[in-house]
Amino acid sequence: MTDGSARPDVLMVWKMLPSVGEALEESFTVHRLHEAPDRDAFLAEVGPKIRGAAVASYPVNDALLDKLPNLEVVGNFGVGYDNIDIAACKRRNVRVTNTPDVLNDAVAETTMALMLALCRRIPQADQYIRTGQWLGGPFPLTGELTGKTVGILGLGRIGKEIARRCQAFKMQVVYTGRHKQRFEPYPYYESLVDMARDVDWLVVVVPGGAATAKLVNREVLDALGPEGMLVNVGRGTTVDEAALIAALQEGRLGGAALDVFEDEPRVPEAFFAMENVVLAPHVGSATHKTRWMMGDLVVRNLRNHFAGEPLITPVA
Ligand code: NDP
Repeated sequence: MTDGSARPDVLMVWKMLPSVGEALEESFTVHRLHEAPDRDAFLAEVGPKIRGAAVASYPVNDALLDKLPNLEVVGNFGVGYDNIDIAACKRRNVRVTNTPDVLNDAVAETTMALMLALCRRIPQADQYIRTGQWLGGPFPLTGELTGKTVGILGLGRIGKEIARRCQAFKMQVVYTGRHKQRFEPYPYYESLVDMARDVDWLVVVVPGGAATAKLVNREVLDALGPEGMLVNVGRGTTVDEAALIAALQEGRLGGAALDVFEDEPRVPEAFFAMENVVLAPHVGSATHKTRWMMGDLVVRNLRNHFAGEPLITPVA
C-alpha cells in the first residue's frame, strides 16, 4: 500500500467530512461519486476498479453493486445500516463495517435535549422572548422530567446511555426489546403496548429496516395516551407517521420529539403547526467530535481490510 501504483481504488459514496476524504487519500486512490456531474457515466468508468467504498446514507443495493463488480468492502458512516442490502453484499462476498459506540454519547445527549425541549417547551420559551411576549407577562408553566417513567424501545448501546442520563434526571427507567437482558437493572416488558400503557415517555432507539417497520403503530400510541410523550431517535420507519400525526391532531397523544422521519429530508407539514412537537433534522450524532470519530472508524476499517488485518467493527 505504500507503493502508489498498488493503492486500492476506493469510492466515496456521498459527501462526508473533509477529514474522511483526506484520511482516505493517505492510503487509497479516492473517487468521489457525489462530485461527478454524470454519476452513471462516472460509475461505468471507474466502477470496475473500485475495491472499497465509504458510504454515508446512500442505498447499497444490487443496482449499485452491479456497477462495482470488484468491490470487497463497504465502510458505512453510521451505526445504522438499513441503507445497505446486507444479503446482497453477502452473496457477493462484500464485507460491511459500521460505526458503533463512538456515537453513543452524542445521540444520548440529543435525546435528552429533545426531551427537555418538549417537556419544558424551550423552543416556545425562546420565541416568547424574541416576539416580545415576556413584556406582557410570564411564560406558562410546563411539565418536568423528574419523577416520570421512561420506557426505552431498544436498550442497546445508545439506549443504555439514554437510560443512564434519564436516571440522572431522576426518572424511572423500563425497557422492551426482543430479549430480556439478564444483567440490566431496569424492569423489562415483553410487550411494547403494555410498556407504552405504563410509561410517561416512550423513547424509540431500535434499528430501522423491515423488522421494526411501523412497530410504533396506532395501538402503541393510544396506549401511551393523551399525556404520553413519544421520542424517536432511531429511524423514521419504526413509527407509523400517519398514525402519529392523527394521534397528535386528535389529542390522543401528548406530544412528540422527532429526530428521524419516514422520508427524510421531507417532513410532513402537518407537524409544523403543532405546539406539542419538537423537530430536529436527523442530528443525533451530528457533532464535530463524533462525526470525526465516525469518519476515522470508517477509514481504519477500510485500511485493516486491505492490510489483511481483522475488521474493527464488522456488521455481523
Ligand atoms: P444496538 O444494536 O446496540 O441496539 C439496538 C437495540 O434494539 C437492542 O437493544 C435490540 O434489543 C433492539 N432491537 C433490535 N431489533 C429489534 C426489534 N426487531 N424489535 C425490538 N427491539 C429490537 O444499536 P445502537 O444502540 O448502536 O443503535 C440503534 C439505532 O439507533 C441504529 O440502528 C440507528 O438506526 C439509530 N441511530 C440514530 C442516530 C440519529 O442520528 N438519530 C444516530 C445513531 C444511531 P434486542 O436484540 O433484545 O431486540
